[in-house]
Amino acid sequence: MAQLDKNIRLATEKRSKRSIDQLTGFKVTDAFTRFSQRDEIYCRSEWDEDVMSEKASAFFQGYYMPNARSRKTDGFSQRDYALRNASWHVTNILRDVKRESEGLKEGFFDHFSLHDEGWPEPYPFESAQHATNDLQKVARFCGADLVGVCDYDERWVYTEAFCDKTKKGKPLSLPDDLPHVIVTGEAMDADLTKTVPSALAGSATGMGYGYDTITLLTLAQYIRNLGYRAYATMNDSALAVPLAVQAGLGEVGRHGLLITEEFGPRLRLGKIFTDMPLVASTPKKFGVKEFCDICDRCASACPPKAIPHGEQNDQVLNRSNLIGVVKWTTDAEKCFKFWANQNSDCSICIRACPYNRPVTRTMSRWYHRFWHKLASSRLRKLALWLDDQIADRSRHKSGWWWARKS
Ligand code: SF4
Ligand code: SF4
Repeated sequence: MAQLDKNIRLATEKRSKRSIDQLTGFKVTDAFTRFSQRDEIYCRSEWDEDVMSEKASAFFQGYYMPNARSRKTDGFSQRDYALRNASWHVTNILRDVKRESEGLKEGFFDHFSLHDEGWPEPYPFESAQHATNDLQKVARFCGADLVGVCDYDERWVYTEAFCDKTKKGKPLSLPDDLPHVIVTGEAMDADLTKTVPSALAGSATGMGYGYDTITLLTLAQYIRNLGYRAYATMNDSALAVPLAVQAGLGEVGRHGLLITEEFGPRLRLGKIFTDMPLVASTPKKFGVKEFCDICDRCASACPPKAIPHGEQNDQVLNRSNLIGVVKWTTDAEKCFKFWANQNSDCSICIRACPYNRPVTRTMSRWYHRFWHKLASSRLRKLALWLDDQIADRSRHKSGWWWARKS
């Protein structure tokens, strides 16, 4: 334990000496402007004529069974939609508990508020490290596949939330004096992801949200029961990817998604803003930027060409992009239009990504570990070539998944 505390002290000192952007590699320019949730593409589909369409409305309606426009195309049958829509059921119920009465869409436009009263006094942890150790253990017990902590960083917090009733911006209800953000990751099902594009593959996304919801609500209630403040958030309140990078979960790929060592880009993220005493994690670097520089598989695989080839830059394609950050920027308008047209979400960029491989504590395979070593070294071109030769990243038929023994 003494060695652990020493390592943490050293990590904290290191962090205080170098700014968080140096540790993450973020390039934030003077033009940086915080993001309003109103400009997020799903919100725009409710107020912006450039994004609104009959197909977009039908896409959202399709998450409720009589409106699912099932068809004969592989992966889009009634059976596939039956599972896809069921996978969203729990998340949707919790999302809508206060929708009619208070206009809240929890987990999407508003933070979760479905909590019991906690303890009146803060639990006296021996140290922030003891609290962090407990948190890590409890988060995994609650179902988190990954968990990290970062300091509150206002840059990634939305300037305003989106109001479900008025379809306009509204003040954010998240307090701004909570010093820490806990970021959780829930892996999505690897086999279902192989069937993308399909409604069936959307079941992996739906269950990812379902697990995320349960983990976040339980973990936030635990923190409240300890006597601290905790606000569980999913797609609402703040940008998850930069916070996840700062919390040491991974790096950002060309497709704009978080890439983790454990699951690649195949996971969903959640965040809890809290004043529980915690030690921030150290951002992790394992060569993703350098690898994406020589790989553009996601860009080539994306049907509407929404992912850029070439170098990172700070070009802004439309109002759904963050201004003032040098990165690969996805065209959310093209991406969403593709989702609406095919009547289900898409994660072809996840299926195609060479980092989408199972390297976990329980599922390690020597070749996946070996591949990671190559990918993070100067031999990254060999890693890319090996993935081309060995990994099967083709689309699998929906029937393949249904026929598999569980
Ligand atoms: S989700 Fe599909 S459409 Fe969107 S960027 Fe990825 S591959 Fe392209
Ligand atoms: S597919 Fe290649 S370029 Fe795209 S995020 Fe994955 S590693 Fe990077």
